[in-house]
Amino acid sequence: MDPLIAGLQAIVGARHCLIEPEAQAPFVTDWRSLYHGRARAVALPGTVAELQAIVRLARQHRAPIVPQGGNTGLCGGATPDDSGRAILLSLKRIDRIRAVDPLNNSMVAEAGCILANLQQAASEADRLFPLSLSAEGTCQIGGNLATNAGGLNVVRFGNARDLCLGLEVVLPDGTLLSGLNALRKDNTGYDLKQIFIGSEGTLGIITAAALKLFPRPLARATAIVALSDLDVAPALLARCRAGLADQLVSFELLPRFGIELGRRFMPGLSWPLAQLPEWSVLIEASTSSGAFDIRAAMEQSLAASLEAGEIADAAIANSEAQSRAMWQLREGILEGQNRTGASIKHDVSVPVAQVPAFIKAANAAVLAAWPEARVLAFGHVGDGNTHFNLAQPENESKAAFTARTAEVNRVVHDVVASFGGSISAEHGIGQLRRAELHHRKPAAELDLMRRIKRTLDPEDLMNPGKLV
Ligand SMILES: Cc1cc2nc3c(=O)[nH]c(=O)nc-3n(C[C@H](O)[C@H](O)[C@H](O)COP(=O)(O)OP(=O)(O)OC[C@H]3O[C@@H](n4cnc5c(N)ncnc54)[C@H](O)[C@@H]3O)c2cc1C
Repeated sequence: MDPLIAGLQAIVGARHCLIEPEAQAPFVTDWRSLYHGRARAVALPGTVAELQAIVRLARQHRAPIVPQGGNTGLCGGATPDDSGRAILLSLKRIDRIRAVDPLNNSMVAEAGCILANLQQAASEADRLFPLSLSAEGTCQIGGNLATNAGGLNVVRFGNARDLCLGLEVVLPDGTLLSGLNALRKDNTGYDLKQIFIGSEGTLGIITAAALKLFPRPLARATAIVALSDLDVAPALLARCRAGLADQLVSFELLPRFGIELGRRFMPGLSWPLAQLPEWSVLIEASTSSGAFDIRAAMEQSLAASLEAGEIADAAIANSEAQSRAMWQLREGILEGQNRTGASIKHDVSVPVAQVPAFIKAANAAVLAAWPEARVLAFGHVGDGNTHFNLAQPENESKAAFTARTAEVNRVVHDVVASFGGSISAEHGIGQLRRAELHHRKPAAELDLMRRIKRTLDPEDLMNPGKLV
């Protein structure tokens, strides 16, 4: 028997060392089925000690390791290449919540914990863990930190990075870095956790994290607002920030095309306004103070916007059910996009005030190159992040459509660059954006990233071919 496989089986047991292609299949293809790889074995350790032993064994055999969380990443970061050399290391069995501390407003969770389970655990302790994204029922906190996930609540709570107090990491030589003290202040030199957050499994394996908790919201106000024009979105955002102060949580752009796609495939979705305008936003605010009337504050902000002619119409949810229905319209865009065929995606950010100008410029550039293109621009514009996607035209084959991906990427990313933006706002780099990153990132930054990689992983065994 292959001595590496024998060694893996000795560590995790044969049941947790998958070598048959059928058993490996769900692990070696990414969420969008864009990337298909092969693994020498899929190993599922049940403890951090087992994981360390696997890392040491892999090193002895010079076998690359591809860490994998919930496998919901959108950049192929958790998919091995097709050489069949790598060990795919799944974190799904390392999934204990080690501690919830409501007084310290913190929680220590292992990397394989599903994000929704952490939200639930926080809620049971009368607290909020605010990281939230559509994949939360499947993605894991280790994957969220490894990609520095963003999501729906960044306007108020920041990215995964902002929610992390400490990390436990297994380094490429098997050493355990134990940094789980949930301190709010610790100025003892380099903040080492930061280089692992967003490193996409290329520097080490996150095995646990100390996370920030917040008071649980007592009330929320959700609204759908019709914009008179895309250009007014930053002014509306500014008004909401002024009127709702730090209670503003989400500010999501909804394009007419996206709502139409969602409603085509999810006929139960109902639009709460008389007209379906070209552009709308979904706004959410929440408060953990019983003294603050969140609905009245939302009404006042929107009334001021209406008076200023920025918005054409607005509906505020009157119940939890109506609020959920509004969020389903946002979810419906993703569903409609997936069900309408292939898509060419761009997860980009520009300064918040520049979002409308960026969308218009990118739209014009894409249509100039490809007049039949169907642009679907939506997302977390309250933090400057647009998902600027193209949906497959109805009369075009998937192959013909996707053949133009590189060309369209270049057109859109050139516009992003002209606004001083980023080609990856929240999804990361993985395999998908690696060449583009190398093309766009300043040489000095790339060089420093490579030097950090070489220092920690001189044999290039941690997730090779991804990011750097
Ligand atoms: C429907 C849908 C909606 C989404 N919405 C959002 C969104 O709003 N915001 C957003 O930011 N992303 C979003 N994503 C992308 C994705 O969910 C996030 O990137 C998520 O953080 C990935 O977590 P995961 O556990 O699935 O990681 P995986 O896909 O398993 O892995 C992602 C990367 O992290 C590495 N990795 C995973 N676990 C570890 C670990 N323990 N230690 C070291 N490296 C590790 C992998 O090697 C890989 O490079 C969405 C995805 C889908 C499918």
